Amino acid sequence: MAKGKVTFDYEKCKGCLLCVAYCPTKILEVNKNETNNKGYNIITVTAPEKCIGCAFCAIMCPDSVITVEKIKE
Ligand code: SF4
Ligand code: SF4
Repeated sequence: MAKGKVTFDYEKCKGCLLCVAYCPTKILEVNKNETNNKGYNIITVTAPEKCIGCAFCAIMCPDSVITVEKIKE
């Protein structure tokens, strides 16, 4: 069961990939088929059910693109 729900403010993303690098469960990936208005590929959650709600992705993101909502068990 997912312990966190991750949402992105895609238009702010600069494609630095820090979130991808720091996600401990490796569920963040570049979506090669979709870009934002700045031309950067957006990030996608490959396995939302595996999110542990740690918020490392949100902490590492330099542009405050990511919001992590903790899911209570
Ligand atoms: S909250 Fe943690 S587990 Fe979930 S996507 Fe972000 S870094 Fe990965
Ligand atoms: S850390 Fe933020 S700006 Fe960088 S790729 Fe991830 S969402 Fe985009």
